[in-house]
Amino acid sequence: MSEETIFSKIIRQEIPTPLLYQDDLVTAFRDIAPRANSHILIIPNKLIATVNDVTADDELTLGRMITVAKKLAKEEGIDENGYRLIMNCNKDGGQEVYHIHMHLLGGQPLGPMLAI
Ligand code: 5GP
Repeated sequence: MSEETIFSKIIRQEIPTPLLYQDDLVTAFRDIAPRANSHILIIPNKLIATVNDVTADDELTLGRMITVAKKLAKEEGIDENGYRLIMNCNKDGGQEVYHIHMHLLGGQPLGPMLAI
């Protein structure tokens, strides 16, 4: 059983955070420490700790995360110029919050994919 993170409290609005989108499967809100002009997090309402914990039962939710990313990119006005979707997994992936989330980044040229 995974431990809840701050994201569960945001989903339930126990920590008031303006939501850009919420439905029965996913929630989206702005990253607290934006790395680009637009930086939105799209997360499943269900706690899934890492991408390694995803199962076939989660496929609808993961698909919804992408369709919501597309909708929000359009609302942000960044769809035509483009954007980047990122999911970090575990230590080497740079994951900090153990409740999976998709970063939607854009609003400026994002440069090379990795800065290693
Ligand atoms: P990760 O490194 O796990 O892929 O990304 C976690 C992201 O969550 C980071 O970009 C971080 O800024 C963001 N974050 C962490 N805590 C909070 C919070 O309380 N509120 C919001 N809106 N974002 C958070």
